[in-house]
Amino acid sequence: HDAISSKPASSASRVLEAVFGYSHFRGRQAEIIEHVVGGGDALVLMPTGGGKSLCYQIPALLRTGVAVVISPLIALMTDQVTALKQQGVRAAALNSSLPPEERAETERALHTGDIDLLYIAPERLLNSDLMQRLATVNVALFAIDEAHCVSQWGHDFRPEYLQLGVIAERFPGVPRIALTATADQRTREEIRDRLLPGDAASFVSSFDRPNIRYEVGLKERPRDQLLQFIRDRHAGESGIVYCMSRRATEQIADWLNTRGVPALAYHAGLEPTLRAHHQARFIREEGLVMVATVAFGMGIDKPDVRFVAHLDLPKTLEAYYQETGRAGRDGLPAEAWLVYGLQDIYRIRQMGAESQAGEGHKRREQQRLEALLGFCETSGCRRPTLLAHFGESYAGPCGNCDNCQTPPRTWDAADPARRLLSCVYRTGQRFGATHVIDVLLGQDNERIRQRGHNRLSTFGIGTDLPRATWQSVARQLLAHGYLEPDPEGHGGLRLNDACRPLLRGERGLSLREDLPVRRPEPRSRVA
Ligand code: ADP
Ligand code: ZN
Repeated sequence: HDAISSKPASSASRVLEAVFGYSHFRGRQAEIIEHVVGGGDALVLMPTGGGKSLCYQIPALLRTGVAVVISPLIALMTDQVTALKQQGVRAAALNSSLPPEERAETERALHTGDIDLLYIAPERLLNSDLMQRLATVNVALFAIDEAHCVSQWGHDFRPEYLQLGVIAERFPGVPRIALTATADQRTREEIRDRLLPGDAASFVSSFDRPNIRYEVGLKERPRDQLLQFIRDRHAGESGIVYCMSRRATEQIADWLNTRGVPALAYHAGLEPTLRAHHQARFIREEGLVMVATVAFGMGIDKPDVRFVAHLDLPKTLEAYYQETGRAGRDGLPAEAWLVYGLQDIYRIRQMGAESQAGEGHKRREQQRLEALLGFCETSGCRRPTLLAHFGESYAGPCGNCDNCQTPPRTWDAADPARRLLSCVYRTGQRFGATHVIDVLLGQDNERIRQRGHNRLSTFGIGTDLPRATWQSVARQLLAHGYLEPDPEGHGGLRLNDACRPLLRGERGLSLREDLPVRRPEPRSRVA
């Protein structure tokens, strides 16, 4: 005790060292803690692994009374409580998986003031007499973890979070701190509106993850590309491969295993004990690849994930950031690798068009989609595009993404683009890229003859360029919104109004040259 109190440090620093064993605060932790200890409300945005927990754990120990931590994930709660108890902190959780005796014990301790941190799921807090109980004890603060769950437009929306606004009414004067690693501007505003009415301070940390190298490539033969990527650059290392469909996760895991890469599948349809078993193995063992749907990842804290690969486009740029953010939490070099093609863009554009959402929501979805496609198609450094999504301006170049390391060449594609667009128009705006390109290339096939497309003025006007180039042009025209999926949903393309100035020659078009998937030298391990 004496050794601690004789240090000329603030009480927060003393707790940091004495309880958690760390000598320095990271990033904005010190400011946040000071603000909350002083009774202020706070919105804390920090990337995964940034150290959000201490921002409420230390104030919990410095303020009198019990700190109530609202968290949506039982597994996460249990981990935290276990860790805190090991550090000698009086922490407990209340959740549905608890035996009644243990619950009764915790409730007793709550009344006798023997708990410093109480972890609880939102529905538990709202649908029980706990609110009343808390009104009779001293509450040090409310911490709302994973606060983005309040956003109805986000992928982790939890309706219970909307009701957490009542905390402010029921417990005026008790500081509230909302924390998240997911926050574009809009989500940020929603968190403020719903969870932090009043004048909460915002603490926004940089979302850059400098040790993650980003690479986005063209999808050709995805399995082989993935295998090559793992063999060349991540042999024997842990990684996550995200796929869209449950079936794909199992097929690809099986296939990797037959190729000598130990892999497991994970998706929401797996039998729960098997799913838990796969997750536990991934966390415990070294060098396992988890092939998963997005069901995998939230709350997974494995520091040495060396790569996150995407074989399908994620739903949003934000989801991409979250998913790739699971790589390299230990700060050592890691990679985020993604391959995509025209089909992916088509699917994603189609989802946007078909959405039943109201106008405002649809416009937001559209913006999200453009952000994702912009990130994929950019010829510049990837970091500014990614971080702009979090309202952060990053000058770049970062030197640690594919475009910085191998700048893509661009070419004047206005003329081929016009030819392709005309051909889409002449063929009736009902056919997919393959057929349109067949017409451009003057192919002689059944479908073309049947439709009389060999008599069109655009038949055979594209023989000067190889098919791969036409595919690249079609993909980028779709990505940039000059082309769009036809509303019939038969896989056809049609013109978007945006292509008029291009067709009239009022504007040009520069496109990036697609490279075959680059194969940089095997990475040298940083010890
Ligand atoms: P987040 O919730 O933001 O993802 P955590 O709170 O789980 O991050 O912290 C990530 C890791 O960093 C944990 O292992 C934590 O103990 C460690 N950590 C947090 N703050 C510090 C610090 N000031 N010094 C050293 N390690 C820290
Ligand atoms: Zn870069």
